[in-house]
Amino acid sequence: MKMDYQISVHIDIPEPTLKAITLAYARLLPILLSDFFKTVLDVFAQHYMELAKKPFCCECCGNEEEFIWKTREGKTTTLLSLFGIVRLAQQQVKCRRCGHKMYITRKLLGVEPRVKVPRETVMKLGLLGALASFRVAQKIVGMFGWVLDRMTIWRSVQRVGKEIRFELEVFVQLKRTGGVRVVGLAIGSYEGEWEKLFEPLLGGLKRFKQFFLVTDGDTSILKGLGDGVKVVFQRCLWHIPHQFKWYLWKDGVKRKSRPWIYALAELLEICAIRSYVDEQKLIHQMVRRKEQRLSELIDYCRQQGWTRCATYLENAASDMFTGLLNRLQGRTVSLVERVMRTVNMRIKVGKWSVEGALNATKIRLAYYYNGFDPCLDRAA
Ligand SMILES: [Zn+2]
Repeated sequence: MKMDYQISVHIDIPEPTLKAITLAYARLLPILLSDFFKTVLDVFAQHYMELAKKPFCCECCGNEEEFIWKTREGKTTTLLSLFGIVRLAQQQVKCRRCGHKMYITRKLLGVEPRVKVPRETVMKLGLLGALASFRVAQKIVGMFGWVLDRMTIWRSVQRVGKEIRFELEVFVQLKRTGGVRVVGLAIGSYEGEWEKLFEPLLGGLKRFKQFFLVTDGDTSILKGLGDGVKVVFQRCLWHIPHQFKWYLWKDGVKRKSRPWIYALAELLEICAIRSYVDEQKLIHQMVRRKEQRLSELIDYCRQQGWTRCATYLENAASDMFTGLLNRLQGRTVSLVERVMRTVNMRIKVGKWSVEGALNATKIRLAYYYNGFDPCLDRAA
């Protein structure tokens, strides 16, 4: 429906600077928001009341035709939009057949009675809260003139996360020791039950000719896959130095001693991959050098008597650069890792339960991989 919109507001601005005008504009927004909602709803309600058949019906007798206005400015209701809280004096009509009075504002909005944060808003805040830390999300919203409490963001993330089901599930596992196991895959205590976890996914995975798996070394998962899916197996390079530190400790190497620093620095360099290189010969040359350096590092560990470290690296060696050689590296690994770093950080500060973190992870992965974006319809 086409309509004119006018608003008259008394504003007091001290000076014509960018700063002062911007500030005044931010203060104008909440007024504009509720007023705009009210105007649009009034125009529609008026139009509907003139129609023979209404787009709503009496909650008591089902009448869809005969109504009269009870009040246009009834009890106030509030709901959260992406631009802040909207306060609306509700429109009330009376059924001429049975005399029942009912509010129609929320019916017109398509928002259930008493719901403070509508689904529409939850989806958007959920994405925002999953992509940025709550503090950042709050800051961003704050710059546009309204106050959003972190609990609302948290709840939105949880609600959206719970609803998300993956076609291709990308799971992640947290270890009790504090590390994170990226196996493509789930959170929680799934130790030893990967096959069961994978069962429902088998059909889906088989649709992919090739499946890129990033793991910290747990290969039991592969048994469940069977034939028909080519698995490009890649050790998670982000984990290797982390796990290596643990083996250094197991071998009794003094933390931050010279040999400790030397070995770790070597390994960090070996594991650093430049994802934008895609020239085949260059990649082969780089991998050859990395392999050479890795084998020297393994020799060094043996000479030092660090047997656990040496064995760990030897086992990891064969799958460290497969992704790079297949030129699949870059995006896949970095996205999963970026998600993991955030999740890990949040778990560590103790604000997140495992389930809470999983929900945030699901939203992020859905956004990165499945085209989930509740904010897109605004641009369209
Ligand atoms: Zn009725």
